[in-house]
Amino acid sequence: MMDYKNYIGGTWVETPASQPNVNPSDVSDVLGHAAKSSAELMEQAIDAAHQAAPQWAASTPQQRFDVLDFVGSEILARKEELGRLLSREEGKTLPEGIGEAARAGQIFKFFAGEALRQAGDRLASVRPGVEIDVTRSPVGVVGMITPWNFPIAIPAWKVAPALCYGNSVVMKPAELVPGCAHTLVEILSRSGLPDGVVNLVFGRGSEIGPVLVESDKVKAISFTGSVPTGRGIAAACGQKLKKVQLEMGGKNPMVVVDDADLNLAVDACLNGAFFSTGQRCTASSRLIVTEGIHDRFVNELTDAMKALKVGHALETGVQMGPVVDERQLQQNLSYVEVAAKESGRVIGGERLNRETEGFFMSPALVTDTDNAMRINREEVFGPVASVIRVKDYDEALAVSNDTAFGLSAGICTTSLKLASHFKANAEAGMVMVNLPTAGVDYHVPFGGTKGSSFGSREQGRYAAEFYTTVKTAYTLP
Ligand code: NAD
Repeated sequence: MMDYKNYIGGTWVETPASQPNVNPSDVSDVLGHAAKSSAELMEQAIDAAHQAAPQWAASTPQQRFDVLDFVGSEILARKEELGRLLSREEGKTLPEGIGEAARAGQIFKFFAGEALRQAGDRLASVRPGVEIDVTRSPVGVVGMITPWNFPIAIPAWKVAPALCYGNSVVMKPAELVPGCAHTLVEILSRSGLPDGVVNLVFGRGSEIGPVLVESDKVKAISFTGSVPTGRGIAAACGQKLKKVQLEMGGKNPMVVVDDADLNLAVDACLNGAFFSTGQRCTASSRLIVTEGIHDRFVNELTDAMKALKVGHALETGVQMGPVVDERQLQQNLSYVEVAAKESGRVIGGERLNRETEGFFMSPALVTDTDNAMRINREEVFGPVASVIRVKDYDEALAVSNDTAFGLSAGICTTSLKLASHFKANAEAGMVMVNLPTAGVDYHVPFGGTKGSSFGSREQGRYAAEFYTTVKTAYTLP
């Protein structure tokens, strides 16, 4: 059994470890225990990152490439092992766990390349003889606060660009998934980074998170998690005039219109709503379906949903693993109840028993809903999707945009005209045509609008906006 230690200033720090890492597919399988760190330990990690920042800021593109390439290569070489660890601690199926581990490796590889491609602009001045250079500098110490649902990919998509652009880092992973963060940092610790450039502190978000957010030595906070936590962090960063980036919840619409390819639409909705146990911020939770295809779509999706094999995440053939913990399972079941009380017709959505004791439930489809119901306003974050029947595309688009969130939006259609119109008018940061709302590439920007995201985009070349500060220099030679 592992003790997940903090990593501060290049040293694994002994801290009493008491937070158990429990396998949601089998609660008798405890992977290890993580430190419940104090505010003082978080301060030490911030100091270490602060001291190391100038050295890494002065590193060459070759040094940055070497570190990121080493980490990417090792993750890719160990993707089966890391995927298994991920599935054990978070509950994604093994193929999903391996896929996420591979994605983390690819992210490091992408930013290894970006480290070599950093460039600025040289412009002519409007004044005679003056030269202008526009360059990017590192921000300094960046604090990273991450959720449990992508335990390796999200830390990777924050740490890799931070290092690529010359920043030092303090990571605060989610309490439920210490194993992946620990392994990632263990790999980073052998990558050739100077001591203190990457630091890892385990502990309760509400206790050590604010220390990270409020420290004057931390110049930027990148957060992924829930809306209430994100709002609090944004307010604290606002007080300090600190750079902040928030990726939060979703209530992502998937529009299915009469001319859609029915099989494709059912597959896209099945994947978008229920894969990864619906625990994706980009999950399709509102299926908005026009009248002509509605009944056929609901019948086919119901059959496909009922055929999904739910069980232990590591069992071959399982398509949907458990919910991450008891609290989240209860939240999912209570939303199913709320939907039924609000006159939705619920199919599935029951707690399931399996050979091992875990947090299993059958996927739930709630039909006959309207967009004003709570089930269509609030994020459930589980395998629960609802169907909203609409007259036509225009109504579908209006319903799709009638939400406080704006992360991802999808449409299934064979009409180029509707696809183009939807891409232009969906109020979301990511739009999918004939593809699930969840499942994105690693080399392009990720993020949303409205209540889903705040600040500049993550991933791809757009990550430079957050992890650098732009400097404009004027020279009269
Ligand atoms: P959460 O907000 O409870 O926790 C996220 C992180 O914040 C954890 O590390 C937690 O310890 C920390 N935290 C908690 N209180 C804090 C505080 N006061 N100050 C600083 N840090 C604090 O979210 P969660 O339950 O771990 O994750 C689920 C949520 O994450 C869902 O709402 C989901 O939509 C969202 N999510 C969003 C994206 C995205 O990119 N948009 C991706 C994945 C998950």
